[in-house]
Amino acid sequence: MGSSEPRLVLLGRQGAGKGTQSIRLAEHYGVIHVSTGDMFRTQATQGTAFGLEAKRYMDAGDLVPDEIVVGVIEESMVPGGPLGGGFVLDGFPRTLQQARELDRVIAGDPIDLVIDLDVPREIVFDRIAGRRVCEECQRVYHVNLRPENDWVCDTCGGAVRQRDDDTEDAVERRLELYERETVPIVDYYRARGLLTVVDGVGPGDEVFERLVKVCVEQLT
Ligand SMILES: [Zn+2]
Repeated sequence: MGSSEPRLVLLGRQGAGKGTQSIRLAEHYGVIHVSTGDMFRTQATQGTAFGLEAKRYMDAGDLVPDEIVVGVIEESMVPGGPLGGGFVLDGFPRTLQQARELDRVIAGDPIDLVIDLDVPREIVFDRIAGRRVCEECQRVYHVNLRPENDWVCDTCGGAVRQRDDDTEDAVERRLELYERETVPIVDYYRARGLLTVVDGVGPGDEVFERLVKVCVEQLT
């Protein structure tokens, strides 16, 4: 390991449970969990140039361009900055270009391990396209557990609906984008001996145990 605290990257399709597992891994190792969305918001609040630029794109509903994403990451990587020590990166890098830039930015203290949290496409498709969310309290349901399409939230009585970006077409588009943009990163890290694949199917606790086991084996 390059530092006393691990530097991990978690890759996986949307709906693979990457966000939840990243947070658990970060807590387990006492390092920070970084989702680029959170980091953009933090830096925008602090008024950094890249942070404000990123916010403009997000507010407009656009993808933040690579050079701005990398700028935000780079500003966070300085010693003593939020990414100066160990971390779990969640949702970054998203493209091969970003992966290369990340290597350049952290050349002195590289990534220790990249985990591909593998959940087959048809399973994540069902998870996301079947998701229904309460408009009031954001509680998440799944249609497999309910026969009807729209219903009232058990918690707050709010309307439970499908989000616009959870429709089958939208999910299909995002999964295709992932195959096109992110799968090449898997090969990139595999070629450098940094990649390990973890089966992401099953109860969250079991998946987490698999992740920790892999980290124990690889981070020595
Ligand atoms: Zn509710």
